[in-house]
Amino acid sequence: MDAGELTIPRRATRRISVGDVAVGGGAPVSIQSMTTTKTADVDGTLAQIYSLQMAGADIVRCTCNETEAAEGLAHIVPRSPVPIIADIHHQYRMALAAMEAGVQGLRLNPGNIRRPEHIKAVAAEARDRGIPIRIGVNGGSLDPDLYERHGGRVTPEAMVESALREIDYFTEVDFDLIKISVKASNVPLMIEAYRQLSEVTDHPLHLGVTEAGPLPDGLIKATAGIATLLAEGIGDTIRYSLTADPVEEAKAGRVLLESLGLRERTNVDLIACPSCGRAEVDVIAIAEQARDAFADRELPLQIAVMGCVVNGPGEARDADLGIAAGRHRGHLFVKGTNVAVVPEDEMVATLVEWAEFIAEHGTDAALARVDTQRAAREAERDRAALLEEQGDDANASEQRVELIHRTVAD
Ligand code: SF4
Repeated sequence: MDAGELTIPRRATRRISVGDVAVGGGAPVSIQSMTTTKTADVDGTLAQIYSLQMAGADIVRCTCNETEAAEGLAHIVPRSPVPIIADIHHQYRMALAAMEAGVQGLRLNPGNIRRPEHIKAVAAEARDRGIPIRIGVNGGSLDPDLYERHGGRVTPEAMVESALREIDYFTEVDFDLIKISVKASNVPLMIEAYRQLSEVTDHPLHLGVTEAGPLPDGLIKATAGIATLLAEGIGDTIRYSLTADPVEEAKAGRVLLESLGLRERTNVDLIACPSCGRAEVDVIAIAEQARDAFADRELPLQIAVMGCVVNGPGEARDADLGIAAGRHRGHLFVKGTNVAVVPEDEMVATLVEWAEFIAEHGTDAALARVDTQRAAREAERDRAALLEEQGDDANASEQRVELIHRTVAD
């Protein structure tokens, strides 16, 4: 089977809609992020929402913690390019105010709004307006009663119970436009809570590792949790909770979904070899230059930067386009076929020019553009020269193996 045909089976869930974004029921996994501005600052919040949408966010959440925030939402929602969810803690009246402001979704934390009559009042209003609510259980703010009953610890079972209890309140008022999250900053805890939850409900699930922290560690922690569950087919919408510009959250979500094949690629997938003793250029510097050059170009191509022409074109033969260094020249290849040779300092500019050509005219047109035989001969010449200079074992692995044998024999 072609690697491109492999897909991850998804768990069947019900479908709800957050504004015009479908969540669950086989809809594409959506990306969420949250603004860090004061919601009362309408222009500042809208500017951030637009940046988030550009970076890949499908849905944006804004806090609604005070009357001024609800008033801000009344101005933000009609001008937002994506559906807006109001984040509610403690004051159920803020949920009612946010719905008056026109938001397309709510997030309630069961640990913070605990009076059943308040929960039901919000759910009944949301039912009448057709607005979905996320039950956002958070390991750090679990209902104290559940905390006590589960041995004074936050456990997956306690988090699931908190979500189910909230669903019961919603059911009492005949409300079922629900999605659920059971986030924790502890990754194994969060993974297990979602696994257990997915066994007992078919409501769509919102995935996240809460308070994952600053980059890069936060990115890795959040990915460990979210990607593990997505790979098991669990999860309908995701949010990276990073201590960083929220644009980083949206970008991370997009890259994760694209790399799992859960979202169609819109940007360049830059791959690069890790470099080794054979490298003919500073692969890290060239890869970073290429990353920056392609950052704002929406080209759905896989592009490879490889350190040497000895192995590069072969190892990256599936890439739409790539370049490999050899004897101060860059050997450009399209789907593994050599197409051109350029001076080393023109490698990145050449990649950009060819990427734009391929995106517009396709691979066949790119291959028909040049004398590929000539490029192949040039590449073979540099490859042979490098093999002659470096031998088959540029990393001296065989010498090391020999030394190991001698050490063991002694
Ligand atoms: S052999 Fe060449 S392509 Fe492979 S890691 Fe080393 S420099 Fe990069």
